[in-house]
Amino acid sequence: MAIIGGGASGLAAAVELGMSSPELSVLVIEKMKEPGRKLRATGSGRCNIANAEAAGIECIKEFFSDIGLMIKTNRDGLMYPYSESAANVVSIITDRAASLGCEFCCEEEAIKIKKCEGGGFEIESAYKDKDGSHSMITEANYIILACGGKAAPNYGTTGDGYRLAKELGHSVVTPVPVLTGIECAEWNANIVPDAHIMAGTRTTGRISLYKREAGEAPTYPTTEKSVFPNEYPNKEPFFTEKGEIQFTKYGLSGICVFNMSRLMRLNKEEGERFEDYCIKLNLFPEGSFADYLNSVSQGKFADNPLKTVFISAFKESVARYIIESLNENAGCKTAMNNGAGDFCDKSLYRLSAEDIRLVCEAVHGLEFHPINLRGWKDAQVTSGGVSMNEIDKKTAESKLVKGLYITGELADRDFPCGGFNLSNAWLTGISAADDIAAKER
Ligand SMILES: Cc1cc2nc3c(=O)[nH]c(=O)nc-3n(C[C@H](O)[C@H](O)[C@H](O)COP(=O)(O)OP(=O)(O)OC[C@H]3O[C@@H](n4cnc5c(N)ncnc54)[C@H](O)[C@@H]3O)c2cc1C
Repeated sequence: MAIIGGGASGLAAAVELGMSSPELSVLVIEKMKEPGRKLRATGSGRCNIANAEAAGIECIKEFFSDIGLMIKTNRDGLMYPYSESAANVVSIITDRAASLGCEFCCEEEAIKIKKCEGGGFEIESAYKDKDGSHSMITEANYIILACGGKAAPNYGTTGDGYRLAKELGHSVVTPVPVLTGIECAEWNANIVPDAHIMAGTRTTGRISLYKREAGEAPTYPTTEKSVFPNEYPNKEPFFTEKGEIQFTKYGLSGICVFNMSRLMRLNKEEGERFEDYCIKLNLFPEGSFADYLNSVSQGKFADNPLKTVFISAFKESVARYIIESLNENAGCKTAMNNGAGDFCDKSLYRLSAEDIRLVCEAVHGLEFHPINLRGWKDAQVTSGGVSMNEIDKKTAESKLVKGLYITGELADRDFPCGGFNLSNAWLTGISAADDIAAKER
């Protein structure tokens, strides 16, 4: 039997088959130099291997226990290898697969699958050596198609599985990159302030996504952009999550931003645009910045300029961005810019109720306007893929082609950050292997 793709789900299937059906010969065809290249990069090299809340977690834990991989779970349910090393995860799984007799053919790419009339399959694959390019045919009674999606193509996932599955009669829901950064209009040298000044800074906060309803007038893009147009003041966010936000050279990144990107699939046929979304960042989610301002504006800090409050509360570049934004925008709305200096130079004791409202609008709802999602190169996961209507959810077997299994990210199933995508890869690989083992018994 053959497994196409030596990533997370393919490796799990290989090991599970080796443990449950030692008599079966298992071949893994992997187009990269070695299996598990993407796995090695997961969790920034630490591998967020699973999530305690993921479907099938008991089965996944049993699998890791069977191969001697120690796992630890943090307070949020995120599971990591005890070594916190993705490279160790790859070596434990591949060594175990090899010791169970599984054969790896690396730097070999599956290019065509043919279903044979009498049953079974023929796989055409291509490889190169010093004598040039070659192709070969491998016969298999079962195939586990574990080629992954299209995200992070430098790890070998270039969407080959979609073509192979389509050629066997499957339909594919258009793949789009998700768990990725969001490019925003504020990163523009022509806008004051240019959000590039925050590139490289990480901060914690609550990020929320709002979507303009049909008929709602856009407030952006306009020729005179205000950074604080205070869009949707009374609207419930479409998505909200607290966590670490990374400002990059193009816009926003970080786990909560990645999770947000999953919800920003555009229905282009209905004319949806990224500009229909608005992101608000609450930099002070724990409490009321107005209360904080009121407390510091009395007593010994009363003479301090407003800007010192931002420098005390936020990272330097974030403070600078808020100060420049307020000077540019709030200053225009108050008497401050009538030759009286910058808005943020105002002493705390002189702040009016309207000044405090404007400051709080900036701190509790700093707005960013998406213009695009980062593409395949930066995305961690693919949304879309082989239609789940055509795959048995329990065994991962194709409902159209008996003996063909479609595992992991190749199927139209994606999850938020937190170990859920790897959980899905392990579980579908194990389930496919168990089904094959049961058929062979
Ligand atoms: C940088 C990064 C970090 C991530 N971190 C996490 C994390 O911490 N936790 C988490 O849950 N998820 C994480 N993910 C997502 C997770 O890695 C994937 O969802 C998971 O690896 C998918 O497993 P898979 O088996 O479907 O495919 P993959 O692991 O992508 O493996 C597919 C394999 O198939 C091979 N292949 C493709 N086409 C062919 C072909 N024609 N012939 C032969 N071989 C082929 C590829 O080379 C690849 O090795 C991360 C993703 C990235 C990119």
